[in-house]
Amino acid sequence: MERIRHAILAGLIALALSYSTVLSPLDQVTWVAQSRVSAFEASGEIVYVGSSSDLTDPSFPERRQELARALDSLREAGAKRAYVDMTFNRSVDPGTDKALNAALRAFDGNAYLVRNLATDLNGELDLSQSVGSVSAGVPVVGSMRWKNYIGYTWNMPASVVYRDEQMPSLAASIADVPVLAGEYPINYGFERSTIPSHRFLDLLPSPDSPGALEELSKDIAGKVVVIGNLNRADTNAPNIPGHIDVPATMVDIYAAETLKAGYTRIVDEWLVILSILCALVLASIAGNRWLRNSVVALCLMTLLACVYITATLGIIMSAAGGLTMLGTYSLLRARANWKKNYRLVDADTGLPTFAALEADQDTAETVPAIIVAKIHRFEEVRRTLPSELHAEYLLRIVGRLKAAKKDASIYVGPGHLIAWTFPEKEPALIRDHLEGLRALFASPLLVGENQVDVGITFGVDLTASPNVTRRLAAAVDAAERTNETYEPIAIAEVASDEDLIWNISLQARIDAALSNGEIYLVFQPKVLIETGEMVGVEALVRWRDPVKGLIPPDHFIRQCENAGRMTQLTRHVLTEGCKAGIALAARGLNIPVAVNISATLVHERDILKMVREVLEETGFDPEKLTLEITETYRISNFDRANEILSDLRALGPKISMDDFGVGAASLEALQCLPFDELKIDRTFTSGIKDNPKAEAIVRNILQLGKDLRIIVVAEGIEDAATLTKLRDSGGTIAQGFGISRPIPLQEIMQFQSFKHEERLRDIV
Ligand code: C2E
Ligand code: MG
Ligand code: MG
Repeated sequence: MERIRHAILAGLIALALSYSTVLSPLDQVTWVAQSRVSAFEASGEIVYVGSSSDLTDPSFPERRQELARALDSLREAGAKRAYVDMTFNRSVDPGTDKALNAALRAFDGNAYLVRNLATDLNGELDLSQSVGSVSAGVPVVGSMRWKNYIGYTWNMPASVVYRDEQMPSLAASIADVPVLAGEYPINYGFERSTIPSHRFLDLLPSPDSPGALEELSKDIAGKVVVIGNLNRADTNAPNIPGHIDVPATMVDIYAAETLKAGYTRIVDEWLVILSILCALVLASIAGNRWLRNSVVALCLMTLLACVYITATLGIIMSAAGGLTMLGTYSLLRARANWKKNYRLVDADTGLPTFAALEADQDTAETVPAIIVAKIHRFEEVRRTLPSELHAEYLLRIVGRLKAAKKDASIYVGPGHLIAWTFPEKEPALIRDHLEGLRALFASPLLVGENQVDVGITFGVDLTASPNVTRRLAAAVDAAERTNETYEPIAIAEVASDEDLIWNISLQARIDAALSNGEIYLVFQPKVLIETGEMVGVEALVRWRDPVKGLIPPDHFIRQCENAGRMTQLTRHVLTEGCKAGIALAARGLNIPVAVNISATLVHERDILKMVREVLEETGFDPEKLTLEITETYRISNFDRANEILSDLRALGPKISMDDFGVGAASLEALQCLPFDELKIDRTFTSGIKDNPKAEAIVRNILQLGKDLRIIVVAEGIEDAATLTKLRDSGGTIAQGFGISRPIPLQEIMQFQSFKHEERLRDIV
């Protein structure tokens, strides 16, 4: 598309330039070149006779007499027509003028005098003509001579008009073609040497060479003779291609030869430009890369060939428009390519960019893995470094990465991302390699004089997709998901294209799913181990898609986050959770309802407003609401989170820490944040019955809860043995598939009516 746009633009520019006269010098070069290649032979029927002395000079009456004699000999020799291309604007003695007049008239209307139309001193057109004593009764033709700034005359008017008088032009009359209208181009392709030319003196009998005149007479019989001034020293003398300062008459003779040969056709500039445009457009839509890249050269060659061929056919063609168009197009393309290349190299470091990796289809398509490294606190560090060290900072990081893999090409991406390809597909091998790299970054980098600690994590793409952009995006996505302490290496899920497209549509459908009931809640009881009594429920979100069926919450919660819909989703769950709590209370089940809140939401005060509004709207008892903060390792600012959680708590709800034990930040979070409840992650609880270490951890967490005076809930209790072990370790509240799977609200209502013993019997 861009190529077509450039072709059209180049065409318009060329057209505009060729219609303004800017390209005229280039046009003239082409025409001169065309004239030189044509090498036509002139008709030979037009004979030029040049006089080196001014025959019109009134001080030399004898010259006029010589002219009269010469005309007589021409007539006798059988010349078809004679033209005297000079104006006798002063009379000499009446006898002389009369003799000349008689010689002209003796031709019976076939001898012509020429009137010259030229601009006078005042810039007005002025006709110079012979005095009546010479011209009376002699037919006249007109000549209008102009030459351009380099001395060439390219066009000739078909007839000459002065005031109201229209005269046949000298050239048209010589060629004896009917008077045309307008102008026609002069074709200078005739070899000058093929136009018979003689000196005026040769027309006069000479005692030195007695037979010469008879010889000449043979040449002249049946021909048209044009007598003019040789004008060698005349500064007004025009140029013709290949010859400078030729007699002015010669231009009219070339024009006459052009008319005789019918070489007055020209190829229009717009036609050339249009043809090139077609060629460029066709080449850009053709799939062939070679053709696309060589189209300018092909057009150029064709253009030059056309100039040559038309020259040999006597057709005048300008190449300037075409050349300008090709030049402009090439420049536009070069600029676009430069820009593209510019995108391919990072200006600061000179390293190739992600765009370069994307452009390198051949490697990127076949390489087993693409790795993206995320540099943590990159911007912070950059801010503390003087600006001249910014590039060095990145280069040092790249240098260290390269230490492990010398031949790797490293690509730099936006901000803090660095990518390279890796020749292995085995995740374990890649993890090993990346762990090794992380170890390399354990010691600080020296940037200038500064010691800089570098936190680095990695995202990996292993998909075999041929779409490099998508692969890179997947690796970037994985890198963005990483966490220095919790998950330093993330491997992108192997997703088919269909899944990716589906994911995108998923994001788009979240809003509708929230309102049409596709997204709904199930509830899982939390029970008192001692009695089996239900002491709370956890609301868990579900999405049943009409096509895909149940979508796992982990998956679509991530999608919600990516689509910026987390707040809407949370509000929906919170509202439905509170309504469920009211419904339970109405049935006499006055128990707390727990709702999961992603840690990412406790960075903003918006959550406070949301909880307050939902509590007001639903009228649910704030004391009966529990907010389970999930993924606490994602809390980056404990001070702020503490402030927000404390304010949330002040509204009434209890704050629970979900998945305790998973992620290095857990203990720190417990210490810094105001939790009322801890939920031990199922990674620990599931192991207690046969893993003494897990058992010790759980027992200690339970003790920790007692010491901190907070409730501890053990999640993921799948069987009776685990439950028993938990009770023996001091656990009081449990939640898990073994007690109940997450179930719809109606079933929760019935859950309580089962006997505790029956329930425990069920689960074994
Ligand atoms: P979670 O908050 O830790 O929820 C407990 C998860 O463990 C639930 O998975 C539950 O079905 C599962 N589970 C319960 N008992 C057992 C058991 O005995 N064995 C095993 N293997 N699993 C058990 P679910 O519903 O798939 O939810 C997964 C996670 O998604 C939740 O973990 C929570 O972090 C998140 N989530 C669910 N609903 C919401 C929500 O409404 N908002 C937010 N922000 N996150 C939610
Ligand atoms: Mg939870
Ligand atoms: Mg949990």
